[in-house]
Amino acid sequence: MVVTRFAPSPTGYLHIGSVRTALFSYLYAKKHQGKFLLRIEDTDRERSTEEAVQVILDGLAWLGLEADEPPIYQTHRFERYQQVIDGLLEKGLAYRCYCSKERLETLRATQLENKQKPRYDGHCRYQTAGQTGPHVIRFKTPETGAVTFQDAVKGPITIANAELDDLVLQRSDSTPTYNFCVVVDDIETGVTHVIRGDDHINNTPKQIHLYHALGKPLPIFAHLPMILGEDAKKLSKRHGAVSVLECREAGFLPQALLNALVRLGWACGDKELFSVEEMTQLFDLAGVNQASACFSYDKLRWLNQHYLKTLSYEVLKPHLDYHFEKLGISRLSGPSTEQLIPLFAPRSQTLVEFCKSCQFFYQPVLQYDTEALAKHVTEETLAHLQRLTSLLAELSHWEAHAIHDCLKNYVTEHQLKFPQLAQPIRIALTGSIQSPAIDQTLAMMGQTEVLSRLRQAIPILKEMLDREAKPL
Ligand code: GLU
Repeated sequence: MVVTRFAPSPTGYLHIGSVRTALFSYLYAKKHQGKFLLRIEDTDRERSTEEAVQVILDGLAWLGLEADEPPIYQTHRFERYQQVIDGLLEKGLAYRCYCSKERLETLRATQLENKQKPRYDGHCRYQTAGQTGPHVIRFKTPETGAVTFQDAVKGPITIANAELDDLVLQRSDSTPTYNFCVVVDDIETGVTHVIRGDDHINNTPKQIHLYHALGKPLPIFAHLPMILGEDAKKLSKRHGAVSVLECREAGFLPQALLNALVRLGWACGDKELFSVEEMTQLFDLAGVNQASACFSYDKLRWLNQHYLKTLSYEVLKPHLDYHFEKLGISRLSGPSTEQLIPLFAPRSQTLVEFCKSCQFFYQPVLQYDTEALAKHVTEETLAHLQRLTSLLAELSHWEAHAIHDCLKNYVTEHQLKFPQLAQPIRIALTGSIQSPAIDQTLAMMGQTEVLSRLRQAIPILKEMLDREAKPL
């Protein structure tokens, strides 16, 4: 059975580059009816706070990339790591190294001076008998030969063993090191495919030696190319939202983010839009590109709008509720979320834009856009609004068609152009000229509210006009 894993180190945020790694691992497992595991690499106890771990769990839950088993925490496995280290020592595959910091620093300086690659010289590998005191545990890396592996993305890779150090497995404070824990964990959780960022490619030969020493078969390794910003520099805060939480707060949907991420370094013909089901069916490591991929926020916005327009009400509702609440828009009366979606989704690229643009339904108008007023409102238009208010009050069927007919008849009768009436109505009802089709906006706002807002706005707008007209 295929078993993949996502193994983040808690840093306080979940970078979207890491999410792409998680997504590819998730998709590969699901495609092959396998298992996707989550391992929290929390050995750096200072950074790995409970909150930092929670950020990862929340981010993955929001994205729907949930693991098939409860997460594994490396800090819960120290005893096991110790057992494995003891076994390697017993077999003579690892050794205690008592070299002092000073000795290692001098060694390094000399090697650099002689233009050699700095590496441990194997001093304690051959002479430690009878020594005691602080020490690390090192792995006996083969001194000759080479490691070769077939990376599922990068192709064959060969590294001469002479290039590799005698890897530290355990530090002098007896904490185990990253490369060691990863191998023990991957072996013991049955990981068959190690899919991770290519910043780890230099670790792989070291890890392969450990697999051999522990007598275990190698998994398939797949190293994913880096994600860059549109300026071809490593994707960072400078480019925009880079953590899952920031993307969520900016009003993106998980479906859009996953779709944007799946296209980073993986292609399936010219296809751009992928639901999670489609990604799962179509994803394959063979389609992963070797070159770095650029993340485009414009593309993400475009995808987000697509999902806003196409996802069902049931899927969108919790996301919209979240943002309405975050923005402090309380919706005790006014249109329901279901009514808002067809009207506002095509006009919004993010959930935040969506919520802000329909905010006017739920709050009285506190401010009227003076620029719009100067452009669209005159004494005469206010007289029209006054007359129209009476006509609207008489409408017995308050729905978009009837409202449209009422407005249309009015403009025809008074030889106006439609916007000459529609824009002042918008200003009176919403404060600005940003609103969807006027008949639908009115229908959704409800007759009582429309009439009350018109009646309230007319004298205020008149006063504003008068003020404007007064000479200084
Ligand atoms: N913990 C490592 C990281 O966050 C990943 C290790 C791995 O995937 O092997 O970069």
